[in-house]
Amino acid sequence: MIENHYEVDIAIVGAGAAGITGGIEVLDAGAKCIAFEKLAEAGGAAAISGGGCCIVGSPVQKKAGIQDTPDLAFDDWMAWGGSSADAVWARYYLEHTLYDLYYWAEQFGVKWLDMKPQEGNTVTRWTRPAGNGKGLMTNLIKAYLSKGGEIINNVQVNQITQTNGKVSGLIAANTVSGEKITVEAGAVIITSGGFNSNIDMVLKAKPELKEHRVMVGSGFGSHGDGHKMVKKVGGYLTHMNHVWFYCYSTPDYKDQKAQRGLVCRHIPGYIWVNQQGKRFHNESLSGGNTMSPAVLRQSPPHCWAIVDTPMKKNLEIADPYYRNGDKIIRENVEELLNNSPFIQKANNLETLAKKINVPVNAFIGEIEAYNTAILNGLENDPAFGKPLKNSKAFDTPPYYAIQFFPTARKNFGGIKTDKKCRVLDKHFEPIPKLFAAGEACGMAGGHINGKAGLEGTMLGPSLFSGRVAGAWAAELIGFGNGFTGRPNR
Ligand SMILES: Cc1cc2nc3c(=O)[nH]c(=O)nc-3n(C[C@H](O)[C@H](O)[C@H](O)COP(=O)(O)OP(=O)(O)OC[C@H]3O[C@@H](n4cnc5c(N)ncnc54)[C@H](O)[C@@H]3O)c2cc1C
Repeated sequence: MIENHYEVDIAIVGAGAAGITGGIEVLDAGAKCIAFEKLAEAGGAAAISGGGCCIVGSPVQKKAGIQDTPDLAFDDWMAWGGSSADAVWARYYLEHTLYDLYYWAEQFGVKWLDMKPQEGNTVTRWTRPAGNGKGLMTNLIKAYLSKGGEIINNVQVNQITQTNGKVSGLIAANTVSGEKITVEAGAVIITSGGFNSNIDMVLKAKPELKEHRVMVGSGFGSHGDGHKMVKKVGGYLTHMNHVWFYCYSTPDYKDQKAQRGLVCRHIPGYIWVNQQGKRFHNESLSGGNTMSPAVLRQSPPHCWAIVDTPMKKNLEIADPYYRNGDKIIRENVEELLNNSPFIQKANNLETLAKKINVPVNAFIGEIEAYNTAILNGLENDPAFGKPLKNSKAFDTPPYYAIQFFPTARKNFGGIKTDKKCRVLDKHFEPIPKLFAAGEACGMAGGHINGKAGLEGTMLGPSLFSGRVAGAWAAELIGFGNGFTGRPNR
């Protein structure tokens, strides 16, 4: 039952990755903790995520014969993220991934399974837990609850309250009854996630995209509530225009405004054409730092993924309606392919070209050139250098064209904090008793990734910064010694 008033040592806003790891630290320090969560279920974007974390020097890497060090990872990180990556937080995170993320999570039943290569990394580091994000969060939430933590669902926090210039609690609302809820707390931690499910905030951050179809695709509660509340009490927001887009996503036709993007993965060998019917990019490079800028340069900025029947066999849609943890719900994927107005299907390529309104000759010319490269046994396609080892010729109808638009997925900017996760004001001074972590802070500190992320560098830093915030918030009110952890030097 939801009450109208709560008194607690530490109040947490949002029970996702950072909220739950923060809560575990608070409890371990001996303080009491309540996480208020606006959705009916805890877990946030983390619970629907792929679960992959950038981890350095792990047993999974060693088993695969990979030698990795925080120094090497740091060099990759800064080269990929550019000058706006926060070197202090990047170094801090990378040195703590082994003991304070990998082994730390293992003690709660998280099993790290395997890895996937990701663009920008010299060696493979993206490490996946059993059950993806859902498996990871189920174990962490269980640990938090077993230590005595509380989660109050269906409570949307709307305001941070202050007494004598110090943060003293929250004002919230019961999302079912609308009743007002007040919270008195020794300190508050904001872990409300990013803003990439709020199209207005995305377009405010990226006004240059206003005239085009842009989709949102973060967690279902990622509306930027924390950013707004923190700003109202003087917190500093930084690098808000660092929005990480994926472009291999099609609109969710079940969403009334078709504004939610569905990320489509695992279609080996497919090609993308623009509205002129031409290929424009090496399709094996699909990341936010490669494909996204390439699609955004097209006129208009979208493309069509061309797929034949065998190619769609392993198609995975990264959304809970289509994927439960690591299990693909195949009948729902087929339902999308057959019913979405953003997906066209035809028994021959000419009809497909007409259905998607691209010039027929240009389109068929691209497919023929691609097929010829494969039939000639070339290693790479001559046009864009795409490796052809996982490709096949387009030869088995029906053929599909899936329309891809840019989807705002992750926020690489947000609330500025120091290394203790204390929220900073515009003078870079801490706002007393206010902490923040996770994607609300561009994953950690304000802008840990910079302009581009190595992948696994969203969830990982969110889990880690949550721990840091929880430990220092507890310390501030007299519990524990703050966060030390164990670096991997
Ligand atoms: C589909 C998908 C796949 C992803 N895959 C990966 C991956 O494989 N690797 C990776 O590194 N990153 C991945 N990410 C990103 C990663 O999941 C997030 O960056 C991470 O979960 C952020 O953690 P967080 O705790 O800050 O936010 P979240 O986990 O989103 O938790 C925030 C919580 O706060 C709640 N909340 C918001 N506002 C309020 C309010 N006013 N009152 C109360 N509660 C509120 C939300 O409902 C939510 O539960 C993925 C994201 C998505 C959407």
